[in-house]
Amino acid sequence: MMNIIMFGPPGAGKGTQAKLLSDKFGFVYIATGDMFRNHIKNKTPLGKLAQFYIDQGDLVPDEVTIHMIKEEIDKNPKAEGFIFDGFPRTIVQAEVLDEFLKNNNQKVDAVFALEVPEPVLIERILNRGKTSGRKDDADTQTIKRRLEKYRTATEPLKNYYQKKEVLHQIDGLQTIEEIHRIISSIIEKIQHGNRR
Ligand code: AMP
Repeated sequence: MMNIIMFGPPGAGKGTQAKLLSDKFGFVYIATGDMFRNHIKNKTPLGKLAQFYIDQGDLVPDEVTIHMIKEEIDKNPKAEGFIFDGFPRTIVQAEVLDEFLKNNNQKVDAVFALEVPEPVLIERILNRGKTSGRKDDADTQTIKRRLEKYRTATEPLKNYYQKKEVLHQIDGLQTIEEIHRIISSIIEKIQHGNRR
């Protein structure tokens, strides 16, 4: 059993890498942003609430996000592992995840932080916005707000995970293949260590 977190600002490449890893290792892929967008598409009450925050580039409140993710984890009791993309995004979310995993005799095994300079992120997100249909990808002001939220609410988690000795910082300007190779080899090392 392995729990992996793809960490980094919007546009860093978390989703791209998470999907490749999920295919390679068979871990269940959980992306809170995708889950919210599904709720919005299906016009659920949670979707209506989330849309208000997402459209402004703000974070959805912790209680809402935590409730949703716990349900998703519980839906996959046979999972060999999870890859979280876009979760946790606050210290509270990280603490709740740790507690939740601890109660199931598990822990966060690795956090991969993709490092990409802000001008590149803005360019990447605007580009993605041309095809993603996401309102929050299409407007520079909203993108800047999301990046600011990342800096103030989410980035401190690097320190949180560094203290737990699970943080791996990775240059997110390398090619998709190169980043995938680096992350895969770290996961394989951890798996090897777990089997000994
Ligand atoms: P993403 O697809 O990961 O870029 O997420 C899109 C939006 O969904 C974010 O800008 C937030 O508004 C919201 N969101 C996704 N994950 C979380 C989370 N863990 N906590 C709070 N809000 C989130």
